[in-house]
Amino acid sequence: MTAAGLPMVVPDPALPARVRIHEVGARDGLQNEKGAVPTEVKAEFIRRLAAAGLSTVEATSFVHPRWVPQLADAEDLFPMVRDLPVRLPVLVPNERGLDRALALGVREIAVFASATESFAKANLNRTVDEALALFAPTVTRAIEAGLKVRGYLSMCFGDPWEGAVPVEQVVRVTRALAEMGCDELSLGDTIGVATPGHVGELLQALDGAGVPASRLAVHFHDTYGQALSNTLAALRHGVTTVDASAGGLGGCPYAKSATGNLATEDLVWMLDGLGIETGVDLAALTATSVWMAEQLGRPSPSRTVRALSHKE
Ligand code: MG
Repeated sequence: MTAAGLPMVVPDPALPARVRIHEVGARDGLQNEKGAVPTEVKAEFIRRLAAAGLSTVEATSFVHPRWVPQLADAEDLFPMVRDLPVRLPVLVPNERGLDRALALGVREIAVFASATESFAKANLNRTVDEALALFAPTVTRAIEAGLKVRGYLSMCFGDPWEGAVPVEQVVRVTRALAEMGCDELSLGDTIGVATPGHVGELLQALDGAGVPASRLAVHFHDTYGQALSNTLAALRHGVTTVDASAGGLGGCPYAKSATGNLATEDLVWMLDGLGIETGVDLAALTATSVWMAEQLGRPSPSRTVRALSHKE
């Protein structure tokens, strides 16, 4: 480590020169918080994340408040941050959510699909194909309105009810979202069971099926300590968009053991050491997560946040 709290830089020529981090802490992180976080604290969190150099900050969700009460303040929150000079996607489950988002000047949305029948049933009470049919008009209308659309795909590497998830099944649903018109597909390891070989196999299969890495993002959870290894495997296969959550906030309400998203600080430490550009100021980001941990009343689970904020 260098004196400035940064790793020594040793590039790997096999890896991309630049990675875009899709920051999910304010949405994926806070939607899994038990207590309600004041709207002003959320807005300040998003402002600080943008100031730390994150170019994409997923802001909130226009899911019905009954399902995600933690993000029921989307209408109040979005106008507080919408003029920030960063991309601010929001989650939209259906056309009603899209109407709410469009009314507020949202420019990017994300829809949420499942690679497995069990999760589609648990999350949306629908089959995988019924859920896709439900999204289709939302995606079409969003594209017509000039919005960028991201498709999240859950349970790509394992499912708490079904166990192993066949690669072909993930490829089928990913292709369906791509053909629907989603600009970007985010492959989620919702319960954190993936390992690097599995990541490589799925990315290769997707490439062979006409979905190149340039169109993909990866969304890893650190349940088994594999999130960074899996990220590195994805980078070697050409992926340049990585989802992460500041301070490691959040898990998954449907997967009890899924303890956390990949922490953005842990990711930035690795990418900084590899000389990969992210635009993120690690010290500013760490300070943001320390501040957010104070608001939530418990320490950040990120190893990098803990190491960099440790006081003798
Ligand atoms: Mg997540």
